[in-house]
Amino acid sequence: MTESSAKTPAWPGVIRQYHPLLEIAQDAEPVSLLEGNTPLIPVPRLAKVVAPEIDGDFDLRLKYEGLNPTGSFKDRGMTTAITQAVYEGAQAVICASTGNTAASAAAYAARAGLRCIVIVPEGKIAKGKLAGSLAYGADVINITGNFDEGLDLVREVAKKLPITLVNSVNQYRIEGQKSGAFEIVDELGDSPDWMCLPVGNAGNITAYWAGYKQYHEKGIAKSRPRLLGAQAAGSAPIVRGEIVKNPETVATAIRIGNPARWHEAAAALEESDGKITAVTDDFILETWRMIATLEGIFVEPASAAGVAGLRQLIAQGEVDVQGKQVVCIVTGHGLKDPEIVLKSAIETVTLPPTFEALERFLG
Ligand SMILES: *Cc1c(COP(=O)(O)O)cnc(C)c1O
Repeated sequence: MTESSAKTPAWPGVIRQYHPLLEIAQDAEPVSLLEGNTPLIPVPRLAKVVAPEIDGDFDLRLKYEGLNPTGSFKDRGMTTAITQAVYEGAQAVICASTGNTAASAAAYAARAGLRCIVIVPEGKIAKGKLAGSLAYGADVINITGNFDEGLDLVREVAKKLPITLVNSVNQYRIEGQKSGAFEIVDELGDSPDWMCLPVGNAGNITAYWAGYKQYHEKGIAKSRPRLLGAQAAGSAPIVRGEIVKNPETVATAIRIGNPARWHEAAAALEESDGKITAVTDDFILETWRMIATLEGIFVEPASAAGVAGLRQLIAQGEVDVQGKQVVCIVTGHGLKDPEIVLKSAIETVTLPPTFEALERFLG
């Protein structure tokens, strides 16, 4: 190994890769865990199930955001939010979270030497996410309320105390999350025909659309994709056109009844000639299992919602993927929510440790 290759990471992280395209301080020193550069995995076996009527020419790929440093796409926006916060002299950051924002904020705050306070809905956060926040040393505060109430609370705190808010209402989060769109176009040479993703607080759909628009305006992408958003049926405010007071879904990352970036999401759907649909928990879990068993890609339930939404709209004849290239963003790692796997009736068997017993079982 040469001296320079030992010192230079193969991938420099989101900010060093795209700094001039990101509206953050251009002279800020990045706080990075070398996030981004996630694989865009072709999934031909899953494609056959998602679009059973199509023969052959349907190119489906999953962008596996669970491979980011803290296991979700939130790291793309947290590197920029924390970098800017440090640049502006912040000492502490705060967020409300269904789990992944908390874990990501905690990690990047640790790396920058900032205090991190996270507000989570008691009992509604997946074990792997809680473990992350605690491991990185954040102050974890459970509230007896849901995410939407937590977000109201941290907005008030950030207004009254010298603490920086790092939810996706912070514009620097959006700036970093645009990098997902840049990576897709850099790899494919253009935008895909459709891009599908789960929608919770709607920061990610806002950021992806901003990224595609920017690349298109610069001529780096010749086209822009149509966006397909998916919400869980029990927490589908944008689909229903009204706030959901008590959102419920197994997909805890999108258990949000009043998205902060509702307006931007609606604009992105409109401008991209996109669609948004609601998928039931059963359908999310069925799709989630297919992604794992057909392709070996383990995601958390919310992450499967985008694929489930695509499947549903194809079945309803609302989306035609013949001859098309489609990217689904699978937003978080499956290990974030191990309990859901164990709960969802996958049988295990216990045997004595003998060849005969095992042979009998295998048939
Ligand atoms: C945050 C999150 C979402 C929802 O993203 P929004 O930007 O809130 O719409 C979806 N999936 C996972 C795994 C998440 O962590």
